[in-house]
Amino acid sequence: MRSRQAWLELGQQAGVWVNRCGSIHLAYRDDELAVLREFAQAAPDHGIDCRLISADETRRRSTAANPKGLLGGLLSESELCVNPRDASAQIAAWLQRRWGVVFRFGTAVSAIHSEQVHLADGPPSRFDRVIVCGGAEVENLFPEVVRRSGIRLCKLQMLATDPQPGGWRLGPHLAGGLTLRHYASFETCPSLVGLRQRIATETPELDHFGIHVMASQTDDGRVILGDSHEYDEAIDPFDKAEIDRLILRELRKLIALPSWSIDQRWHGVYAKLPSRPILKAEPLPEVHVRTGTGGAGMTLSFGLAESDWDDWDERFG
Ligand SMILES: Cc1cc2nc3c(=O)[nH]c(=O)nc-3n(C[C@H](O)[C@H](O)[C@H](O)COP(=O)(O)OP(=O)(O)OC[C@H]3O[C@@H](n4cnc5c(N)ncnc54)[C@H](O)[C@@H]3O)c2cc1C
Repeated sequence: MRSRQAWLELGQQAGVWVNRCGSIHLAYRDDELAVLREFAQAAPDHGIDCRLISADETRRRSTAANPKGLLGGLLSESELCVNPRDASAQIAAWLQRRWGVVFRFGTAVSAIHSEQVHLADGPPSRFDRVIVCGGAEVENLFPEVVRRSGIRLCKLQMLATDPQPGGWRLGPHLAGGLTLRHYASFETCPSLVGLRQRIATETPELDHFGIHVMASQTDDGRVILGDSHEYDEAIDPFDKAEIDRLILRELRKLIALPSWSIDQRWHGVYAKLPSRPILKAEPLPEVHVRTGTGGAGMTLSFGLAESDWDDWDERFG
């Protein structure tokens, strides 16, 4: 919840578009509904704000959800939506304006040694403390840290529609049964084993490309559609039309959009530490590496940063 509060405050202070749209995981099969029910029952013990809703309530809250065969949904009213392409630049501009943070764009850190950071194109700088958030490229600076950690690289293919006509809005983020096998949070649900087996038998091509599907809408009206997950040696620069086709096939089962016209296709690569939410390492005194947040880095970022800050406050006062 610390991340959520921080995003809301940032929305007000930095002018970042933050939409309190919430999310619904849709259930069309009995095993999907069973997992959602088990998750909703356990949620209060973990401080998670969500509840199971009927098919009727799901339809009232989302006109995009396909009513055919809909059994119900898991509603979270606390989920937010931002447009990362704008948010990153807006946050940097606000940090500069409000807090006098100095940014050096268009250059690379070539090495970090005790007490000095070296840039590719400038004199070295002395430091008291460095926090290295180099994402998937941290390996260039600290290869031994990454090799020891068990970090994996993951490539995702995504798509965006044209802005939807007539100002149509999707409402809550929507995801379906495939998503339940992707996020570790659902692993405590006993019915997940059967759901996984069913999907592996019915649609092995989705497991092969790590596909689960979700849709959300940005302020410009585009609906963002995703995604696939290919790891390590399977990563290459070439996007696969087959993956896009499968994502769209599965999404069309869940949702109806006024326009499916695709405007953009892209892929991204992130670093993921499978065993924990983040990799923390201190390869040199006062050099703190933070990476490996996988597919939840935008969501968790403020909470992770605040917990580090609290630790450092305790250690150094
Ligand atoms: C397609 C895609 C969709 C995603 N969707 C979501 C989502 O819906 N929700 C969510 O919570 N998370 C999502 N994520 C994950 C999220 O984006 C990552 O977890 C997060 O960006 C990781 O942050 P980071 O700061 O560790 O690394 P990054 O965001 O990768 O930032 C690292 C930066 O450091 C720079 N850098 C690296 N080395 C150097 C160097 N030597 N010198 C100078 N600069 C350097 C890189 O160029 C990069 O700009 C998604 C990721 C992808 C790829």
